[in-house]
Amino acid sequence: MLVQKSKPLTSLLFSCALLLPLQVLASVSDIANKAAQYAEATYQDEMTESLRQLMTFNTVAIEGLASTENPVHQKFKAELAKQANQLGLDYTDYGYVVVIGLGDSEQRVGMITHGDIQPFNASKWAQSPLLLDQKSEPGKLIGRGTEDDKGPISNALYAMKSIKDLKIKLNKRIELYVYMAEESDWEPLRQHIKQHSLPQVNITLDAEYPVVTAEKGYGTISLTFPTENPNSKFSSKALSDKTYISEFTGGFFGSQIPEDAHVTIENANLKLLEQIKQVANSHTGMSYSYQWQGKQLSITALGKSAHSSKPKDGVNAITHLANLLAVNHWPNNTSGALVNFINDQLGTGLYGNKFGNIAFSDDFMGPMTVQATVLKETVKGLALNINIRRPNGKTTKQLEHEIKVALLQWQQKNQVTLLDVSSEINEPFVQNHAPQIDTLLEVFSFYTGIADAKPVSIGGGTNSRLFPNAVSFGPSMPGTEYTGHSEHEFITMEQFVLNLKMYTAVLIELAK
Ligand SMILES: [Zn+2]
Repeated sequence: MLVQKSKPLTSLLFSCALLLPLQVLASVSDIANKAAQYAEATYQDEMTESLRQLMTFNTVAIEGLASTENPVHQKFKAELAKQANQLGLDYTDYGYVVVIGLGDSEQRVGMITHGDIQPFNASKWAQSPLLLDQKSEPGKLIGRGTEDDKGPISNALYAMKSIKDLKIKLNKRIELYVYMAEESDWEPLRQHIKQHSLPQVNITLDAEYPVVTAEKGYGTISLTFPTENPNSKFSSKALSDKTYISEFTGGFFGSQIPEDAHVTIENANLKLLEQIKQVANSHTGMSYSYQWQGKQLSITALGKSAHSSKPKDGVNAITHLANLLAVNHWPNNTSGALVNFINDQLGTGLYGNKFGNIAFSDDFMGPMTVQATVLKETVKGLALNINIRRPNGKTTKQLEHEIKVALLQWQQKNQVTLLDVSSEINEPFVQNHAPQIDTLLEVFSFYTGIADAKPVSIGGGTNSRLFPNAVSFGPSMPGTEYTGHSEHEFITMEQFVLNLKMYTAVLIELAK
């Protein structure tokens, strides 16, 4: 259906439509389909311009600064207000939450999005990721927020505008929620929800199709490998004539599979390098460069960043670089202990199978994922952040206990005392009873030609869990790589327009 990317979408849809069984065709009302076609024919350019403007604001959260005090967030909201105003939609700024609406019925349909973004490393992009790049790779809209989550905001605005243009009579008011701290802090949204009434039915535009009815719980395990004691047998003085790891760095932020890592080995030799290179040859998706400075060997690792809820979409540079070094069990100074720990407890696997007994899986939600994401130098030592995504099947208490036991055992065996050990694990979310699920599946099938669409579970967590009857509907296609949080975020123009059509149609189906 959508695999032949070279064909224009319209011709594909006609050919799909001819092949589809009647009951699938009948599942979208004429009025909804007419509006979707109108939106596609009328607003591709304006919607792209809307996204271009929204992207220019670097709405990444600043630690210690509330969104309501963040001047860039204020400017972003001013742009949103301007766009809503131009489109004839009402706009209310509640601080952390903006609501853009159409119609005035008490019964409402909500769309949940967010206006903040994740950080980016500008040096990894063909041009600033705040500038919409349509040239580097024809057919793609590249830049931070294109998929997560500014693209969907522009889709929603023009879906509402199309419905307004056609003066379609709806029984329900449509509300677009734009939350400003989805990537960093959900507390202000919880507070907002306590004080305001919400739409009775909601779709979240922040994950994937066809319909997401379950989300794993987000979790973090944090631990610090202590700074060397100058009197210990692992001080650099005591190790001075031995081969040891003097430095290991890597990662960027907690919910990104890291694509960079770096190690420095003292008193290295050619034999060690040969062993390392042999392991490197067995790694797919990684590239390594080696530099000698006297007897000091440095290795720079380049993997592939991805959303940490989808570790299969990336290649983890931290765990792969540690794996190169598994040819040795290293002296347990700060960086050596870290490398030993990663090799003993994490490995290059995705599911925590080496981490004591913590690994488990759920038939619908899939396996828990366990990924090292960030290393940070602190005054106390080297802090490792491990990102987990846990399905149903074990209680939080059991998991926390199993994590504790595994960490204790490793420390005892290795005579290392880890500092600041903590874990924070959120509950999974399941929403099987939202009344709109069948409608969403029908609209999805109608516009993609994928006839046997069924609800899915994802590793990521969205604001769905805070809203009544909320499930995710897009913006990315099932089975495709999700690029939000990566250093190569994009949405194809084809998908961007398809989203516009599906959101337009689905709003009418849910609100008529
Ligand atoms: Zn998002």
